[in-house]
Amino acid sequence: MKLGAHISIAGGIFEAVARAYKSGCDCMQIFSRSPRSWQAPALDRDDVKEFMKRREKAGITPLVIHSPYLINLASPDKELYKKSVKSCMEELKRADLLGAEYFVTHLGSHKGTGVKAGISRFGAALDKIYKELNPGVMILLENTAGGGNNIGGSFREINEVMEASKHKKKLGLCFDTCHAYAAGYDIGHKKGLEDTLFEIDSLMGLDKLRVIHLNDSKGGLGSHLDRHEYVGGGKIGTSGFKVILGHPRLKKPAYIIETPKKGPNSDPLSIKKIRKIYGK
Ligand SMILES: [Zn+2]
Ligand SMILES: [Zn+2]
Repeated sequence: MKLGAHISIAGGIFEAVARAYKSGCDCMQIFSRSPRSWQAPALDRDDVKEFMKRREKAGITPLVIHSPYLINLASPDKELYKKSVKSCMEELKRADLLGAEYFVTHLGSHKGTGVKAGISRFGAALDKIYKELNPGVMILLENTAGGGNNIGGSFREINEVMEASKHKKKLGLCFDTCHAYAAGYDIGHKKGLEDTLFEIDSLMGLDKLRVIHLNDSKGGLGSHLDRHEYVGGGKIGTSGFKVILGHPRLKKPAYIIETPKKGPNSDPLSIKKIRKIYGK
């Protein structure tokens, strides 16, 4: 099993590699720039070279780029929608430049205009992106904790987004365990996990599942609360993660923890602990 973490790029994008390596990561996820801004300062060529060199040496793969937070490809606001499509294309170009395998994005919010309208806008955005750019990196749609105006709380909705675009074949799935649990999927028990995997398999095929965000949940089952907790320290619990990490059909995806960081030792300790407790 490939296990890694979401790693900070503070001090230069290439510094993420050393950080990941020291944390015991096989794979890693990063933001290609500050996720809370529309600005994306151009990637420095030498920085990219250094990043590639270090990554190859450390053997860290796959590389996952997480989309910035402001992008909303389901937005009814024309300005924001246009800005989001443009920004997303920029991010995909950066992901290709960095040699990333996967680009993870949430499905955004329909802002009260209804799930159906939001899904159709997201599908159209994907079509525009593939028509104008045709990125090498694979776009993964991440499930959310559901509730409110957010799209993607169910795998049925994610599949509808895939179907709303002409490029379902090129799209994949990122499965966040905290979000799934908070959305009401009882994945910490054998029956609940089987049902969930059956749902994904029937809708889009389990081979679409490329990345698992391995997070425990502070909120209860169906709480729609998106609050991550250390693996084993939340409502899914150690027994729940034994069910998840022991499942024979979940060996292929890359596992990324996005759990709280109290200091530089949080990720290395979490990764060590996960390998020890779950035999990974
Ligand atoms: Zn996530
Ligand atoms: Zn989350």
